[in-house]
Amino acid sequence: MSKAHFGLVGLGVMGENLVLNAERNGFSSVVYNRTYSKTESFLEGKGFGKKIQGAIDLKEFVSKLERPRRILMMIKAGGATDRVIDQISPYLQEGDLLIDGGNSEFRDTERRVAQLESRQFGYIGMGVSGGAKGALEGPSMMPGGTKASYEAIESLVQKMAAQVEDIPCVTYIGPGGSGHFVKTVHNGIEYGIEQILSESYDLMKRVGNMTGNEIADVFCQWNQTEELSSYLVEITEICLRAKDPEDGKDLVEKIIDKAGQKGTGLWTVVSALELGVSVPTIYASLNARVMSSLKKERVEAEKILSSSSSFKFDIGTIENSMAPIQDAVILSCIASYAQGMELLKAASKEYSYNLDMCSIAQIWKGGCIIRSRLLERIQDAFYVDSQLPNLFIDKWFVEQVNRRLPGLVKVVAGASQAGIPVPCFSSTLDYINSYRTSRLPQNLVQAMRDCFGSHTYQRIDKEGTFHTEWIS
Ligand code: NAP
Repeated sequence: MSKAHFGLVGLGVMGENLVLNAERNGFSSVVYNRTYSKTESFLEGKGFGKKIQGAIDLKEFVSKLERPRRILMMIKAGGATDRVIDQISPYLQEGDLLIDGGNSEFRDTERRVAQLESRQFGYIGMGVSGGAKGALEGPSMMPGGTKASYEAIESLVQKMAAQVEDIPCVTYIGPGGSGHFVKTVHNGIEYGIEQILSESYDLMKRVGNMTGNEIADVFCQWNQTEELSSYLVEITEICLRAKDPEDGKDLVEKIIDKAGQKGTGLWTVVSALELGVSVPTIYASLNARVMSSLKKERVEAEKILSSSSSFKFDIGTIENSMAPIQDAVILSCIASYAQGMELLKAASKEYSYNLDMCSIAQIWKGGCIIRSRLLERIQDAFYVDSQLPNLFIDKWFVEQVNRRLPGLVKVVAGASQAGIPVPCFSSTLDYINSYRTSRLPQNLVQAMRDCFGSHTYQRIDKEGTFHTEWIS
């Protein structure tokens, strides 16, 4: 049998779909999975009749690939990835290429790129987004590493990626762990938007007493708009319409209100703290998941901490697409993207990634979970000014803020009085209010710091550094 063009390690949800994608695009493939029975059932099932062969061990796997070998690892991130690299490396030869498509921590990827490239192997850390369907039909991919290694896989990933107006949703991101850094921030933005949409559902349900189908109708309307047309709004409508086959009631209402997380949201927030970037909307979404995990405690607390949940306020009507909530959702989604983009710019500077914000917005426009029409505007904003300090000062976004802020204020104020948590909406409001305030109260913080710790301060009326003996 002739040698295969492409190798895949890890036949999990993502791996099996990605190898089918590669094969459909003309790349004969060989697959290896730690548990061989999975390889067998794949070859007898979804992989049957395709130009895909299996391998029982890594030695056989490598021997079945044409050189230079292009091997995609789609396995659990962390120690498992290091173990597979150690196991496969003895069989690789100079110029062969390993691609890590898992959700690896970007510092792990920095280390692996340095180690593997120094041994004359190519190593690409590639964020992949789109879930199982995207992996099969065309995901968005964020590859980082050396330019030479990227060029060796370019023809493969360009064919496999989603295409938007004939442009593939993949591009060279930058050196080292930049691809995984960009994927991490993508996931942070995703956390934000998921929480934002959930807050809007909660208000429609609790304040508007709306049914799942009625709320789904609103999401359907929102999905027709330039500002909110997106994959996540689309699937929210689907989730809200789904019924429990046992009793025909809304399935969403049967799901326990505890959200899991696998690390990328946390890494986004930790990176933001390390780099001094303000990401309150994204942080609020992470914290909301943490609070959701305290289910038992929340059930007990509800019995003893009084709440004002009967308060009603104007959340709009189906006829006006729940206008105030829509305003809150739009500004919060913009904030989530804006904060993510800020973080990418700061990382680009700190780690010399030389990220192209315009291209990143471009490759997120198709295939990935955060794809949306809004990304078109984001791309335009960075096209006009690649060094744009913040999305919120781009002309189109300024108009959005000035038009929609009263709606966001109404929602945050009303939700506060009703005792309904809206962490992303309220964090977004504080973010915008802080950003548009030329004088914040940190003058007093500076005074206190100087008072107790002689930390010194600067003045608005004179150059220099000052200290005052505050306590006589
Ligand atoms: P999955 O379905 O849970 O499959 C995990 C795969 O990793 C399996 O093939 C498993 O092999 C293999 N594996 C685990 N530990 C291993 C070890 N120590 N040595 C060798 N192989 C090992 O995972 P998935 O959802 O496809 O995700 C794969 C990667 O892509 C992860 O890093 C994930 O974070 C990332 N990702 C997932 C999605 C998504 O939507 N699911 C999207 C983007 C990125 P066995 O069969 O032998 O256990």
